[in-house]
Amino acid sequence: MNYYSTNKNTPDVTLKEAVIKGLAADNGLFMPERIERFEPAFFDTIHNLTFQEIAFEVAKKFFGEDIDTESLKEIVYDTLSFDCPVVKVADNIYSLELFHGPTLAFKDVGARFMARLLNHFLSGNKKLVHVLVATSGDTGSAVANGFLGVEGIHVHVLYPKGKVSKIQESQFTTLGQNITALEVEGTFDDCQHLVKTAFLNEELNNKLLLTSANSINVARFLPQAFYYFNAYARLKEKGILQGNELVVSVPSGNFGNLTAGLFAREMGLPVAQFLAANNENDVVHMYLQSGKYNPRPSVETIANAMDVGTPSNFARILDLYNHSHQTISSVIKGYRYSDSQIRETIRKVINKSGYLCDPHGACGYMALEEYLKQGQAGVFLETAHPAKFTETVEQIVGKEKVPLPEKLAEFMKGKKKSVSMENDFNRFSAYLFSFA
Ligand SMILES: *Cc1c(COP(=O)(O)O)cnc(C)c1O
Repeated sequence: MNYYSTNKNTPDVTLKEAVIKGLAADNGLFMPERIERFEPAFFDTIHNLTFQEIAFEVAKKFFGEDIDTESLKEIVYDTLSFDCPVVKVADNIYSLELFHGPTLAFKDVGARFMARLLNHFLSGNKKLVHVLVATSGDTGSAVANGFLGVEGIHVHVLYPKGKVSKIQESQFTTLGQNITALEVEGTFDDCQHLVKTAFLNEELNNKLLLTSANSINVARFLPQAFYYFNAYARLKEKGILQGNELVVSVPSGNFGNLTAGLFAREMGLPVAQFLAANNENDVVHMYLQSGKYNPRPSVETIANAMDVGTPSNFARILDLYNHSHQTISSVIKGYRYSDSQIRETIRKVINKSGYLCDPHGACGYMALEEYLKQGQAGVFLETAHPAKFTETVEQIVGKEKVPLPEKLAEFMKGKKKSVSMENDFNRFSAYLFSFA
């Protein structure tokens, strides 16, 4: 299947090219030329399938023309070495827990899939591929762990010195093997600038095969549809789907997660309503209300993975619905929450039901509670484990209520190894040339 650019100003590319390039040459985002639908009968028996089996069926619809069935199955099963279960939180409110992967956040699914797909496309290629990733915390850990030990690939994680939490830092500086952490004397924007300059540098690109692993990549984006189907199956299995349709609430920043859900709906998944839960960065919320899209610089909140002022996947949403505000605002209902509402909800939910939400999941919970009508049931995406935001969550509910999961404790025990890097492109390119 071919992929076109949302800017429609550059020729279509193959899946392999889309994955290796990441962003289209005209700066647009890649979209698959077709979205294959399931027969309605598929949903009658979907609850008899496991998560891995469901994900494989979905993956075949996206990638079946481009990857042989056996390899695709291996990639999917290997990616999903952990579950994404549905857990009851309150009457009619369920949490889709996306934090059971290696770095305890939903980005593990896309990052692990992308690493395996890239490895598949590059097998037989003798040249080592260098993945460059700038991170303000979470992306670096998901990408580094997703690519850890994958042959033929070396990952270079650039992060701003002193500006990521200890837990986050330990998740990409203690791994070793094919992962190198670069501790940059600068800000996240400086890291991103170094990476972007490297991609544009002809001399470097002649010597080294460089690629990016940001969330714009279709190989990170599309696999996020898997768990929407699983949420439906598991709720059906429990017998709690009213009218057989699902209400899904998605804490959103760059809107990649929610857009993958829209793709699932286009494939036939019976979703009655999507809710987009924002923090005070409410650019899409305002668009849904008014039809006017005015990106603006982000503000800091306690749900910081959603502090996005220019949501990159908005271009995909516009393209999917032919820029129709009427359609988009009927499929997605927008909600916006302040830090104090987030705090209040985390406190309320743990007191009422014993369930600890992270600040992002709490936004999803609130939107669902606000939307649901009598007799309806819905699910919110719990996008990360609350212990990833220890300082914030401990302040809200008290230290004893936020136990450190085994996996995070393991990272903390590891020995930090990083390369110090000045915020200077000459130094960075000299470092990269040393791999040539
Ligand atoms: C990345 C992230 C989000 C936002 O997801 P998008 O796909 O960018 O909308 C929400 N919560 C957590 C914990 C994240 O890491």
